[in-house]
Amino acid sequence: MYKYDFIIVGAGLFGATFANLATKAGKRCLVLEKRPHIAGNIYTEDVEGINVHKYGAHIFHTSNKEVWDYVNTFADFNNYVNSPVAVFHDELYNLPFNMNTFSKLWGVKTPAEAKAKIEEQKKAAGITEPKNLEEQAISLVGTDIYKKLIKEYTEKQWGRPCTELPSFIIKRLPLRFTFNNNYFNDRYQGIPIGGYTKMVEKMLEGSEVLLNTDFFEFRNTHEALFDENTVVIYTGPVDGYYGYTFGKLEYRTLRFESEILDCDNFQGNAVVNYTSHDEKFTRIIEHKHFEFGTQEKTVVTREYPSEWKEGDEPYYPVNNERNNTLYAQYKELADKEENVYFGGRLGVYKYYDMDKVIAEAFALADRLLK
Ligand code: FAD
Ligand code: UDP
Repeated sequence: MYKYDFIIVGAGLFGATFANLATKAGKRCLVLEKRPHIAGNIYTEDVEGINVHKYGAHIFHTSNKEVWDYVNTFADFNNYVNSPVAVFHDELYNLPFNMNTFSKLWGVKTPAEAKAKIEEQKKAAGITEPKNLEEQAISLVGTDIYKKLIKEYTEKQWGRPCTELPSFIIKRLPLRFTFNNNYFNDRYQGIPIGGYTKMVEKMLEGSEVLLNTDFFEFRNTHEALFDENTVVIYTGPVDGYYGYTFGKLEYRTLRFESEILDCDNFQGNAVVNYTSHDEKFTRIIEHKHFEFGTQEKTVVTREYPSEWKEGDEPYYPVNNERNNTLYAQYKELADKEENVYFGGRLGVYKYYDMDKVIAEAFALADRLLK
């Protein structure tokens, strides 16, 4: 093996974006990936001719034109618009919270009626300055929606009471007083036709990629590759990098249960959320609908959230006070590193969407490739 300018840990979106920009700038990149495939959590796999999102539904959405133009150089995006529905016992509602939701719930017809209803419930709850997710949710949408569509779903997803969760988690969801079921407010949205894996494959062209390779083991056995000129871009969990010295950051993990069904349309929508405690899963994904599939069969996946333990895939950082304080300690160490840069959802312990991850990789490339 010859020397590399960059050793990139993780073939997910952050690693692939950085590798792509670095190779374009004439740098030699080695990408190490411990999983048996590229693309990290946006990996898609062909099952029965359907691109299955193996690590959960991924909808690309952004208002950043530079990021949108960039991803479009690697894939054609379709015009999929995410419009999940939520099932609570035997009731079904449109998401995100909009006039369709309010109308079904309260029988209201106008935005003024819906606003009055929310205001009345907010007043009854007596919340002036929301201090946690529960108070934030009630002051945004009132107690009915909180109880039916937020409370139990959020507690399943995060494994903690809503009173102990930060309100930013819920601020991601749009609240609209129009009859518009688009889950996102972003200017651009879609799914790469043919799947995300193909897109990432193109991004990694020109880089050397080693799959089934854990960085820490590799570093022990390939010391000669690492000298003072080798720059490491690390996109794994930051606490793992430091051997959990200060303690473990908390993550939520997911178990995905998939099945192939002998019918062409199981639920009529790509994403159906189950917002009550009755079901242990949070949502059912029917993958074919992301690409308007017409296959005879269908593939569905149920998502079961649980607390992360070593050996599980860490999917969601739990950004509460305890973890943010702990992360700050790791960050202090990370900032002192001379040749190691941390990026991506796990490297900086942030709840980043794909477009933010790409924008962060752009920023790092700007710093390091000039
Ligand atoms: P990852 O994809 O996690 O890549 C990191 C890679 O590093 C992994 O492949 C891992 O195996 C590898 N790695 C870690 N440690 C080591 C090691 N020691 N040695 C070698 N390799 C290592 N974003 C959206 O914009 N829209 C969505 O709809 C959306 N839905 C989501 C749904 C779910 C269930 C989840 C969990 C996330 C979702 N996201 C969504 C966020 C999106 O997945 C992330 O923004 C993106 O995948 C992050 O890319 P990354 O490169 O930072 O991390
Ligand atoms: N959420 C909810 N009810 C829903 C969907 C989402 O209460 O039907 C809350 C929940 O707390 C979740 C957050 O909104 O963690 C963000 O939801 P999103 O669908 O954006 O999360 P992700 O796709 O990242 O899991």
